[in-house]
Amino acid sequence: RFLSVEGGEGVGKSTQISALAKAIRGHGHDVIITREPGGTEGAEAIRSLLLSGSAGRWQVRAEALLFAAARSDHVERLIKPAIDSGKWVISDRFLESSRAYQGDGSGLLDSEIMQLHAIGSGGFLPDRTLILQLDEAEASRRAAQRDGDTPDRIGGRDAAFHAMVHQAFVRFAQEEPDRIYLVDAGGDPDTVTKRLVSAISDLLI
Ligand code: C5P
Repeated sequence: RFLSVEGGEGVGKSTQISALAKAIRGHGHDVIITREPGGTEGAEAIRSLLLSGSAGRWQVRAEALLFAAARSDHVERLIKPAIDSGKWVISDRFLESSRAYQGDGSGLLDSEIMQLHAIGSGGFLPDRTLILQLDEAEASRRAAQRDGDTPDRIGGRDAAFHAMVHQAFVRFAQEEPDRIYLVDAGGDPDTVTKRLVSAISDLLI
């Protein structure tokens, strides 16, 4: 099985992914945690091209191509082989981050992101995409605390950008309710993990 976990900055993705993996292992499955951009040697090299340097280093279309190239390597060399050998894979971010950040947030059309994904990864999709949702003010506060940013400017991007990303995730879930689930990331961590587990319970059987 292949799961992706998505969400804006500061929603607690990493903590929750570890806890979700532990819960799935408790059902007797092997679980690999990976991340996008990254996960393979080549994709990690692309990750450093994307995440180092100034926030505006890449023109958005070039950025989207790099994300699609990193994902292509990641899917072919890590995700598909792991699934074929019977493992579960959880990716910290996947396609929906590109649709939200390079699409809605940065002005590319959703159809362009999907075209790049078709070329790079044959349109390969997760069995389920879990989007962690947190009140925007709380998420910015947490992200700022973690990264030493100020709440109105996280990762070099302003509040309007993060609001567009947030709304994009909500829309994706409305458009594809069978695959994409919104999960409330508020409250104590154990409660959030329980919500995630119940959002994949049909896949665990
Ligand atoms: O997952 P994490 O929060 O560490 O994300 C790393 C960075 O990559 C974040 O700043 C995120 O905004 C950015 N990103 C992006 N477009 C994507 C995926 C991640 O801008 N498609």
